[in-house]
Amino acid sequence: MTIVADMARAARVGDMTPVARPVRVAAVAAVAVLLAGCAANGGSSGTADGPGGDTTGATPGSTATPAAQRSDATTRPLDGPPGAVPRRGEVREIQATGSLPPVISSIPTKRKVVFLTIDDGWEQDPGFLAQVRDQRIPITAFAMRDAVEAKGTPDPAGGPGRFVGAGKWGYFRSLRDAHVPVENHTLTHPNLRLLGYDAQRREICGSSTIIRRQLGTRPTLFRPPFGNYNTDTLRAAKNCGLKSVLLWTATVQPGGKIAYQVPDKRLRPGDILLLHFRPNLARDFRILVDKIKRRGFELGNLQAYLDAATAR
Ligand SMILES: [Zn+2]
Repeated sequence: MTIVADMARAARVGDMTPVARPVRVAAVAAVAVLLAGCAANGGSSGTADGPGGDTTGATPGSTATPAAQRSDATTRPLDGPPGAVPRRGEVREIQATGSLPPVISSIPTKRKVVFLTIDDGWEQDPGFLAQVRDQRIPITAFAMRDAVEAKGTPDPAGGPGRFVGAGKWGYFRSLRDAHVPVENHTLTHPNLRLLGYDAQRREICGSSTIIRRQLGTRPTLFRPPFGNYNTDTLRAAKNCGLKSVLLWTATVQPGGKIAYQVPDKRLRPGDILLLHFRPNLARDFRILVDKIKRRGFELGNLQAYLDAATAR
């Protein structure tokens, strides 16, 4: 894996050897296949398999780890987490339908507030980190181990990357220090519907374990790769200590374009937007945030809203 990452790095500085090239091309192709589903799912045409439906509820998350505890490793205590927090009575309760974690695609509020989430971790753009930190933009990250550790090759969906292959958790520690909760997105990004319970549990619990070890924080949210899950996923997530399963209502494409999974193609109160760590993220993110604000929406603190929506 280190070899591939080194090759990717070599490619960026233009000193790749002829011997290395075919290997990298093959590896990129393999990952292209691996990630195609993710990119497809992130497109504008929501499928029956994808998220975008109304919130379905389950267990109220009254036992969710308090925000203060979640950020106990934060080294910048001078100010609290950024983002709008719910007013009293603003958020409708997510109804419980059983003992399993609720699957949440949007937050039930009428306020013009939306939530930013970002997945995987193939690219580690320092400009994005600076934006989030310096402008106090609320965002929630769903880290996938093989992406963060640059196992394999770059996410080809984003084109040639400048920051691919960082292969370290330091970037996510910096995000954590900028008040970005780092949550669970499995170890290897499988289609969980194709796995049995035990294999799903290994993917989900393993991710929480490594995040806790690397960052000192314990995830409470789970995002299934491709938005694919089944009852075993919810059981495994619960048994791995996760409180809610988070889907999304719209994805953000290169250039900051919003691809909606709803018919009216408009931002709606409570929408959860999905981005990926990809090349040019800082530029695209600036366009996106400007667009959201121009449309009169605030950016919300997801955890605070989830706490309100799932409180008894
Ligand atoms: Zn993903």
